[in-house]
Amino acid sequence: MSQILKQKRQVAINPARLCAPIGAIMGAMGVHGAISIVHGSQGCATYPRHQMARHFREPIEVATTSLTERTTVYGGRENLLEAIKNVYTRCHPSMIVVMSTCLSETIGDDIPGIILDFEELNPDVEVPIISVKTPSYVGTHITGLDNFLTEIVTRLPEKGEANGRLNIIPGWVSPGDIREIKAMLRKMEVAPLFLTDYSDPLDGGVYLQKPPHPKGGTSVEELIDSANSTGVIALQRQVGGKAAETLGKRFEMPSEILPMPIGVENTDRFLQTVSEMTGKSVSEELEDERARLLDAIVDAHMFMTGLKVAVFGDPDNVSGLVRLCAEMGLEPRYALTSFDSEEWGIELLGVAEEMNMDLEILVKSDLHELHEKIKEDPVDILIGNSKGKFIAEKEGIPLVRTGFPIEDRFGYQRMAVVGYRGGINLVGEIVNSYLDNGTKGGKDVVSNTLLESLEAEDAGSR
Ligand code: SF4
Repeated sequence: MSQILKQKRQVAINPARLCAPIGAIMGAMGVHGAISIVHGSQGCATYPRHQMARHFREPIEVATTSLTERTTVYGGRENLLEAIKNVYTRCHPSMIVVMSTCLSETIGDDIPGIILDFEELNPDVEVPIISVKTPSYVGTHITGLDNFLTEIVTRLPEKGEANGRLNIIPGWVSPGDIREIKAMLRKMEVAPLFLTDYSDPLDGGVYLQKPPHPKGGTSVEELIDSANSTGVIALQRQVGGKAAETLGKRFEMPSEILPMPIGVENTDRFLQTVSEMTGKSVSEELEDERARLLDAIVDAHMFMTGLKVAVFGDPDNVSGLVRLCAEMGLEPRYALTSFDSEEWGIELLGVAEEMNMDLEILVKSDLHELHEKIKEDPVDILIGNSKGKFIAEKEGIPLVRTGFPIEDRFGYQRMAVVGYRGGINLVGEIVNSYLDNGTKGGKDVVSNTLLESLEAEDAGSR
């Protein structure tokens, strides 16, 4: 029987989480020309840049107020005023996003108040300056992005003429996922407005003339215009759910918070919702993609049926992956997130009961806990980001890499897992990782008749 277990231990061992400013930086990267200022010590900007650059293989530009021992005692007001001025004059941004850190929150710097002072002292500065609360001792990178989105929809949208577009809040996905969502909507002739679109800034090209800001992203004007869209859909409850509710209430537009469109059922639900909100029908091309995903799942059954799987990562990702695994005939045994949300656990418990799983749902947990569980009751496949490689190596099981960060492989930022085509990618990754895992699967699939007959001869002569 499925159950929810919340970790009681106060110390995380091998955490499956990242620090909160990373989430806000990720959201700001999706706004064309926006620059992030991390109000904290230099390390609070270096760590997110380092982690993101290793995953996305792109330069990540983030400013810092470089708090020191002195500013920790006397406050970082002067540093922040100077940082905003420097960023404005040197980078010509379209928007400035100031995020707090453990340090600036602990010393109690009033960032919104300092921004108001800056605006009074510099009336010529007209770009929006947004403050986002991101102390890492409250929540994770998920909270950082969620807080950023809520701040954006509270501050920027303004009522005007209807624009005929559909607001999409993708949450924490990959650039490949955003491109896949765009492709699906194009096939339905629906014009989206993304809050926010980090697909090109985080997976850009090489240009002879380097643009002053990374190409792509949602413009500030579009964010203002998001008040005039037909409706809003959030693709993750924990990241962007609150923002969708806020937009819906503020501008009386239909809003839906859906499960992340991973797998057949969740993608069906997404497309059906888009169809209901816009009056556009699901195209034949999308129906063909659905049929191909079903075919891939049927073909995978001979390898996958009855294998146990553990999934870890960001909450909405994990829920979608668990459902896809069950659709494939796998038996999800553990689902773990470091995020603290009872609501998430209860929702996943509903999915587990609906699909008759024996699933342990580990909330606010860590990879040490998951490893202990796997040692007690082993699984055949582990699904999650690169941080799971130590468990996979120790237990001799394959790690299917998905989520963030993936730093020990190349190009995963471009891979989509959402939609029917993303589902086909995932089914392939899961089956092939299992078959690649030496003696576990692959050996039985392709027979080496010469080797086998020599081995048989050898055995007979002994
Ligand atoms: S001090 Fe806090 S905000 Fe800074 S890097 Fe560490 S966890 Fe992140």
